[in-house]
Amino acid sequence: MPIDLVLRSTRVITPDGERPAAIAVADGRIAQVLAYDAPPPDGARVVELGDDALMPGVVDTHVHINEPGRTEWEGFASATRAAAAGGVTTLIDMPLNSIPPTTTVDALAIKRDAALGRVHVDVGFWGGAVPGNVRHLEPLHHRGVFGFKCFLLHSGVEEFPQLPAAELAEAMEELARIDALLIVHAEDAQVIDSAPRRPGRAYADFLASRPREAENTAIEHLIPLARRLGTRVHILHLSSSDALPLIEAARREGVAVTAETCPHYLTLTAQDVPDGATEFKCCPPIREAANQDRLWEGLAAGTIDCVVSDHSPCTPELKRFDTGDFAQAWGGIASVQLGLAAIWTEASSRGHTLSDVARWMSAAPARLAGLARKGAITHGNDADFAVFAPEESFTVDPAALHHRNPVSAYAGRTLNGVVRSTWLRGRLIAENGKVREPAGRLIERGES
Ligand SMILES: [Zn+2]
Repeated sequence: MPIDLVLRSTRVITPDGERPAAIAVADGRIAQVLAYDAPPPDGARVVELGDDALMPGVVDTHVHINEPGRTEWEGFASATRAAAAGGVTTLIDMPLNSIPPTTTVDALAIKRDAALGRVHVDVGFWGGAVPGNVRHLEPLHHRGVFGFKCFLLHSGVEEFPQLPAAELAEAMEELARIDALLIVHAEDAQVIDSAPRRPGRAYADFLASRPREAENTAIEHLIPLARRLGTRVHILHLSSSDALPLIEAARREGVAVTAETCPHYLTLTAQDVPDGATEFKCCPPIREAANQDRLWEGLAAGTIDCVVSDHSPCTPELKRFDTGDFAQAWGGIASVQLGLAAIWTEASSRGHTLSDVARWMSAAPARLAGLARKGAITHGNDADFAVFAPEESFTVDPAALHHRNPVSAYAGRTLNGVVRSTWLRGRLIAENGKVREPAGRLIERGES
């Protein structure tokens, strides 16, 4: 296969670290990692990136695209446009908030139809495990979903109920049998039900209604089940740093448990949230600065595997800016376009490198989803890149973001690191915030 493209940068982020290199691309794949000054093959287009970093495209395994059914919240075109502008080249869509939720093969087909031909990045799907759908898990698995999400408390939408204890065990047994991954919204319903509930504009009251114990208890219950049933379990959007020792201990004894956290838990703190500012509402909630420091330690230690957006938008009306009541507002933060810059801003100030960021946001999520050809700049992988100017900064203007509704918890914040361009399978899909025609594919688990 002839080399058609060479991208040359003094800062290529490879699995072995950062170095000057020239990346040769043939037919959408990385054909060779060449020395920086190697003469380019005849006929190849050469793109000189100078000192801009060439990073693996971000793999965001936690994105809620609410189409069909709640397309006014977010849709495939707008979400993937935001992803492309933000350096994301692959995302995996969560099974809920669309109608129907992705809990049957028929529902998956409806989602795929809605997405087909309209996605700007590669898109895969998680399935859902809900009461009564255990017989649908294996067929969905064979149709290429990347794993199954469940809730241990009310999900926020009626059509995606939580799994009671007996059905959780049943689903976990089935997933162990077919070797599929369970991904869990781990907050315990009983702890939340008995937490103090004071509606209103005070962020402290909202935080008290979603205590760390809810996460700690849920994870405490999950680990013995995972051990006993042999199910691979992934903890979604970990916010409580108290749970880190539990996860660490379980992994040390060989329980297959992984964890993710999100940019908002790592870059925003409860002290930052003004009363009534419901754009910061998400579940589990943004917590105190000391908790955040421990999450960073967990990430550095590898107890937390990956950082993914949990991009979960809604309409401004549902954020209830009219009342500023945290209890009434929809929970969710839309950040698929901003994750890379937000994380780099905080990571660099804490002494981490671009290689660390690429590990957390590209390599580890790709591994979680079993995407063998994504997440790293290495021979044979898809030529998916984010070209990133780490020393530049910008101020977030929600109206300039591509996701559907101009609401952002990062509004007005200055972030370091500008995504100059994004490349998907060797093709330029976004440049300086401008997104080109849809070139994404719908991807399936285990495809080669
Ligand atoms: Zn989510």
